[in-house]
Amino acid sequence: MAAVPHSEFRAPRSGRVYLVGAGPGDVGLLTLRAVECLHEADFVLYDYLAPPRALDFARPEAERFHVTRFPGNHAERWPHVVAKVLEEARKGKVVVHLKGGDPSVFGRGTEEAEALRAAGIPYEIVPGVTAAFAAGACAEIPLTHRTCSSAIALVTGHEDPGKGESMLDWDALARFPGTLAVYMGVTQLGHIAQELLSRGMAPDTPAALVYKASTGDQRTITAELGELEEAVRRAGVGRPSLLLIGPAVALKPAQSWFEALPLAGMRVLVTRPKAQALPLVRKLELLGAVPVVLPAIEAREPADWGPADAAVDRLRAGGYDWLAFTSANGVTAFFNRLKALGRDARVIGRAQLAAIGPATAAALTDHHLIPDLVPTADLRSETLAELLVERCRGGRVLLAQATQGRELLRERLVAAATVDVAPVYEQAAAVDSASDVFDRLRRGEIDVVTLTSPNVATAFLAACDESVRQRLRDGSTRLMVNSDRLAEMLKKDGYPAVTSPDPTSDGLIEALTALRARPGEPGA
Ligand code: SAH
Repeated sequence: MAAVPHSEFRAPRSGRVYLVGAGPGDVGLLTLRAVECLHEADFVLYDYLAPPRALDFARPEAERFHVTRFPGNHAERWPHVVAKVLEEARKGKVVVHLKGGDPSVFGRGTEEAEALRAAGIPYEIVPGVTAAFAAGACAEIPLTHRTCSSAIALVTGHEDPGKGESMLDWDALARFPGTLAVYMGVTQLGHIAQELLSRGMAPDTPAALVYKASTGDQRTITAELGELEEAVRRAGVGRPSLLLIGPAVALKPAQSWFEALPLAGMRVLVTRPKAQALPLVRKLELLGAVPVVLPAIEAREPADWGPADAAVDRLRAGGYDWLAFTSANGVTAFFNRLKALGRDARVIGRAQLAAIGPATAAALTDHHLIPDLVPTADLRSETLAELLVERCRGGRVLLAQATQGRELLRERLVAAATVDVAPVYEQAAAVDSASDVFDRLRRGEIDVVTLTSPNVATAFLAACDESVRQRLRDGSTRLMVNSDRLAEMLKKDGYPAVTSPDPTSDGLIEALTALRARPGEPGA
């Protein structure tokens, strides 16, 4: 068969829409199909209750559009949302409309599908984990139970009591032989309880309100139906919450597995560059914390590739005995540059490889390279320097690092070997000073701020106003760092900080867990 240019095989692009249920909040409750659709999307429109973390699965170049960019309330935005979805699909784009929970449960998914069908635009509806199922799992409330609940009803609580006739058959609901899961019912809680009680439901019927099920903010208030409104008012929880009513609710343990997670409810600010933040963010989420991401710095290409490219040429010519990496970022930047130069890992030839710690080593392994030297304990530049000095005496070393990388490694090595630096990336301050994270910090809504390098710390603190700095100084918002050196640097400026036992994300997690267990301890 004659060779045909690859591009000729490409199917003609036609607009398409995926109405995707993105689950109740935890990104782990996205379906695999939802992730596939997000990978494919050119345009992602996301609803108010769609988990924002789901957007991390869309390609960086996909356009993101939050529904709140349209004016008005939910109902007023609806026609704009449908019009936007149609408009983007007509341009030939793959559109994902991300909806909270499941699109067919109080999500108007079918109405949107009708508009698409009428316009002749192909679409797919992707189911999602609905809020009731997340509340059942994460608050440990069985929705059905063989002894006391043989059915589930998904009920809207959104009806306006002043609006005359109700669409709901309250008599039937009051006699329902199982669990009522009431959506959009917090503000009408008193009215809903009243309707059920006045139709004969027992005032001591077990009931619960689950706020933000499956997220680190989850809270569950349980009470007898007659007393739930007061209990919820006292607890001060609001939307989004789901109301569960029925005998099976009594089977909830005092604390669910989810509420007992070691970092449950802890709000942790992550200031690393976005790409490195995600693994830490996911670990935090899985332990019940609420990670808040505000990258303080980002890695950029160096202004001048000249020195790095010259070093690559020397490396290729066999000019170095060791190639050392001091960060995972450095590994990524080095290989991206090789690719841009039309080269690959073979330029390393017989040079041995050193990595500063496990994350950097893992980045090398991703490129199918096994480092010859990785310190496994005491992960500081000092340790790598000591080990490397012993091994490379009299040899030639190339350090691939940031333009403003720490000088320590080079200084220690020059005493023993010939050392060159290949500056493969630059770190630049990248704090979004307009971010609402600063309001949350001022209001004391962040428990711990993590700072994981001097550059990160300097960029973050420079962006804080005096009231936030004061909270950090007096410890009402805690600071956590990943090296003694950084802790000392901050202490000089009057900021007390907890230091993690090692600089990896596991080290940070360990220190956060200890802080949670013994919040008042000195030094903690
Ligand atoms: N399609 C969505 C429901 C949309 S209606 C689904 O299938 O879940 C919005 C209501 O869903 C909210 O008012 C609240 O009652 C409920 N809800 C959504 N996410 C929730 C969550 N994480 N925890 C508790 N209730 C939630």
